[in-house]
Amino acid sequence: MTRRKFLAAATVPAPVVVNLVANTPQGDRPPALRRPAKITRVEATLLQMPLKERFWMSISPIGGMQPKATRLILKLHTDSGITGYGEGSGGGAEELRRGFAGLVLGEDPYMVGRIWEKMFATTYSSDLVKNGWSRGGVISAMAAIDAALYDIMAKAAGLPLYKFLGAYRDAVPVYVTGGYYREGKGISELVQEVRSYLEQGFNAIKLKVGGITGGFSVQDDYHRVKAVREAVGPQVRIMLDANQGWDVATAIQASNQLYDLDITWLEEPLHWYDDVAALQRVKMNTRIPLASGEGEITRWGARRLMDTGAIDFLQFDCHAHAGITEWRKIAGMAGMCHIQLAPHHEPPVHGHLLASVPNGYILEAFANPDRDPFWFEIYERKPKIEKSVLYLDDTPGQGIEFRRQALDRYGARIL
Ligand SMILES: [Mg+2]
Repeated sequence: MTRRKFLAAATVPAPVVVNLVANTPQGDRPPALRRPAKITRVEATLLQMPLKERFWMSISPIGGMQPKATRLILKLHTDSGITGYGEGSGGGAEELRRGFAGLVLGEDPYMVGRIWEKMFATTYSSDLVKNGWSRGGVISAMAAIDAALYDIMAKAAGLPLYKFLGAYRDAVPVYVTGGYYREGKGISELVQEVRSYLEQGFNAIKLKVGGITGGFSVQDDYHRVKAVREAVGPQVRIMLDANQGWDVATAIQASNQLYDLDITWLEEPLHWYDDVAALQRVKMNTRIPLASGEGEITRWGARRLMDTGAIDFLQFDCHAHAGITEWRKIAGMAGMCHIQLAPHHEPPVHGHLLASVPNGYILEAFANPDRDPFWFEIYERKPKIEKSVLYLDDTPGQGIEFRRQALDRYGARIL
């Protein structure tokens, strides 16, 4: 008997199992087959790790002047024994310490729409001030909780998240972010860095520009990007991120100067105080596609951005803000506005989401353990990225497992 025949013979015929389960009341089913009906416990850990150096964007370094990486890891337990993980960018820890997790205890994880609205309603009610929560903290905590609910639902369905959501593809293009400003880093060091990304197989690279207040003129940025274009050749996509470093006139001047270097998008060109409506001015005066949205925290903020007609790529980040539920609503509107999605940060959750929509353009990833240590250290299992593509497999849920020692080493238990 071949191995395949032996295994087929040993398997209980599927219809029998289905009938058996379908005819058995929820409470009498074996735990592994029981549908989760209730969230029973919330665990949360805040990870923090100092970075070895400052990676400067246009006006500030990643993680501040005492740079550190932060991450919130949330675990929801259910009455069926299925647990769900949700990650957040680090905000919301204080809200969880001050009772926010109580909002999901006892809830049916499949009622994710209701749970989302219940959590969001605290941002416009007296609950916020009474509990000492902040609006931003609530939005951050929601991101992790919402992702954990989806992880539970997909695991209970026995499906990877992207298929649970209704998949469009099972592999997603990925770019790497680098080209930070650093003291003593000239053009040759920048080119060397970019070559290391090519050696790692990346074919799309994002560079930082806009460092005027750090002493880099538009002309300096042009020479930096030109050197990179010459080094990588015409086939590699180059994106530029000004991280709100320019005013309108400078953004227009810079984008026109950089145009002949074949730029896929220019990201967040404008200063914070007028970074939405004024994008129209930039759009009318440049041919480079524009990207923005990593700082938006709701679908209404994302709508204002899309309503300008100025952006070609939307970067809403459900890992930092408001969760999968909100991201999916935004993705629908983006599709209707002919806008592609290129979410800010964190490949594990955004990989599933981009794979679930037709207008998912590209995913951000990191290739430097000094810049993004958690990507390299905290996962026991994570999606595979190879040659600028992230591959999803059939592991139920988000398909991530954390490395216990890393969580113990960098984490402080909140709940
Ligand atoms: Mg950015």
